[in-house]
Amino acid sequence: MPTALITGITGQDGLYLAELLLSKGYDVHGVIRGQNNPKLDLVRELLPDVRLHNGDLTDMSSLIRALRDSDPDEVYNLGAVSFVAYSWENAPLTTDVTAKGVLNILEAVRLHTGDRPEAIRFYQASSSEMFGKVQEVPQHERTLLWPRSPYGVSKVFGHYMTINYRESYGMHASSGILFNHESPRRGPEFVTRKISEAVARIKLGLQNELVLGNLDAERDWGFAGDYVEAMWLMLQQPRGDDYVIATGETHSIRDFLDEAFGHIGIDDWTPYVRQDPRFMRPAEVDHLIGDASKAREVLGWKPKVSFRELVAMMVDADLAATQQGW
Ligand code: NDP
Repeated sequence: MPTALITGITGQDGLYLAELLLSKGYDVHGVIRGQNNPKLDLVRELLPDVRLHNGDLTDMSSLIRALRDSDPDEVYNLGAVSFVAYSWENAPLTTDVTAKGVLNILEAVRLHTGDRPEAIRFYQASSSEMFGKVQEVPQHERTLLWPRSPYGVSKVFGHYMTINYRESYGMHASSGILFNHESPRRGPEFVTRKISEAVARIKLGLQNELVLGNLDAERDWGFAGDYVEAMWLMLQQPRGDDYVIATGETHSIRDFLDEAFGHIGIDDWTPYVRQDPRFMRPAEVDHLIGDASKAREVLGWKPKVSFRELVAMMVDADLAATQQGW
């Protein structure tokens, strides 16, 4: 039975990835931080078969311990300060976790594997935010990186460290450059989930206003459940490599609003939505749209859930959750 260790197991992708690996017969371990993590109960409830290890990406000794205690064949580094707006307010913390944390875990893996660098297959969660001020449309694995936030800069550091550990030490290390992916498990601070939650509450008469930033921002949005499959496929290849994972379609926040409100039978959402500059980014990223042809050809990966299905899934889940909370 293969063994996997996941950092960021309490996050959206960590939960989906753990479920996927369990369904494939893996022995799954997760790193969880803090003395009383509020998501511990959720993880225990959804993933009773996962073994948890205390650890933090800023503390290399905890990562060494987690590796020693789990002895994994595969490590998925999903832990990060992952919210771009928060990364502006907390740039040093973002750098410690999202940038230097990658170095800590790569180094811990290197120490653990010793003279067998290929003994652990490593996945790094890189991001389309690395493209920032885009130099080319669509973006592929060799597009010039021009990050526009502390988050994006930190992800560039982690991306190149992963490549360097692969090239310098012979590690089986892969970097997945994932474009935005969403789900009912997306954190409520992210715009897609903020919309789906608000739309559900508006439908149920519990809210009548939704305050957003830039409605013209465009993203390439996919479903998280599809994207974790790509992570796993990367680690099943004979060698580590870098792959863009995206749908190849771009939509604006306005499109998301059209779909979400349309799903509950409201065609004109303008009376419900107010724009506030406080929710705008200091520097917006441009036209993000990914070219995932390498992943399609090498990994045989393609997204299954469409934009329309994704939005409907999120609104329906928030409707059900809000009603259950009554
Ligand atoms: P989430 O924000 O849902 O999860 C982030 C995870 O990181 C949480 O489990 C969190 O744990 C953990 N974490 C935060 N700080 C630390 C720390 N100091 N040490 C260890 N773990 C920590 O992110 P997603 O699941 O959406 O994304 C997974 C990864 O993929 C992230 O690295 C993200 O940046 C990246 N990514 C995501 C994209 C997306 O669209 N979702 C797109 C491209 C990349 P805790 O519960 O303790 O806070």
